[in-house]
Amino acid sequence: MTAAASDVKIFSMSDASDVRPPGLYFHARACLEHDPRQEMPWMPETPERVEALERHLRALDWAGWQPREAPAARESDVELIHSPGHVERIRGLALAGGGAADPETWVGEASYRAALHAAGAACEMTRALLGGEADRGFCGVRPPGHHAERDRAMGFCLFNNVAIAAELAISELGAERVFILDWDVHHGNGTAEAFRYRRDVLFASIHEAGIFPGTGAADDAGSGEGEGYTINLPVPAGSDGELWLSLLEHVLIPAAHEFDPDLILISAGFDAHESDPLASCRLQTGTFAEMARRTRDLAQRVQAPLGAVLEGGYEPAVLARCVTETLRALSGDRPASSAAPDPLLTSRAAARVGHYWEL
Ligand SMILES: [Zn+2]
Repeated sequence: MTAAASDVKIFSMSDASDVRPPGLYFHARACLEHDPRQEMPWMPETPERVEALERHLRALDWAGWQPREAPAARESDVELIHSPGHVERIRGLALAGGGAADPETWVGEASYRAALHAAGAACEMTRALLGGEADRGFCGVRPPGHHAERDRAMGFCLFNNVAIAAELAISELGAERVFILDWDVHHGNGTAEAFRYRRDVLFASIHEAGIFPGTGAADDAGSGEGEGYTINLPVPAGSDGELWLSLLEHVLIPAAHEFDPDLILISAGFDAHESDPLASCRLQTGTFAEMARRTRDLAQRVQAPLGAVLEGGYEPAVLARCVTETLRALSGDRPASSAAPDPLLTSRAAARVGHYWEL
């Protein structure tokens, strides 16, 4: 497929789109009550992020998606990934009226409930997708999750929403293999650690090198039995959408296709956008739509449902546009355009990842 063919319908895709149910958009009012600026006034992870996004979506009739209010996760769901001690610490900080979980992660009175609902949305979406209610899901929730480790909150994240959903899918809902694509500009260290030794979760991340949290080196491919089932693709500051799309199309998607997941989850951060204040990559709104189309096409090829969970993205108006375009791309049938392979970084990455997967 070429960019020139972008408005030509592909026969099999139009067939599939005719029967595809609308996407489900999960959210929760409780997620808006967590406000770290009470004690950390500089904090960019604010309720306005989701408020701006939902104002935009509501005006567009949710881009055709069906909004659903998400319940709180059960503590037993959260403990699929986190230690009981961690859950108790976050709950205790909230009950005590608030406290810092780490130098940049605040837990206020409402934060425990917000975090339970963020995880609950990811769980509810996963149940709906694997239960056949829809092919596509999106969770417009906060606090984000992908930095949270088993025993540790960090980087604005309290509970690891995507990791909890993946583990729920495998341990309770019959999924055998879950592919997690983390396109947030920061490495999803918490998710990577949760599944470091596992072969039933393929975790793949594109992230900016040299920024928080400092993990996700290219030569970290997982450990033990899980070696090869972690794919880290760090990119230099200033990288543009062409490079991200090239890595996705020529490295990650082929590996994920061979892995043959029965559920695809996206840790959908939008902080690689050129306007984002927290990083230096230069993606455009349309880049996220293109990444979504490639991932949607993968989902169609392997016949797996696809759900995305909001992570970062700290310029609210930009976040609103990026998410909207992502939803349209995930549920639309416009073909992805083909990315030219970046000659240097893509071939290096392909050589490394090709050690484990046929690219
Ligand atoms: Zn991020």
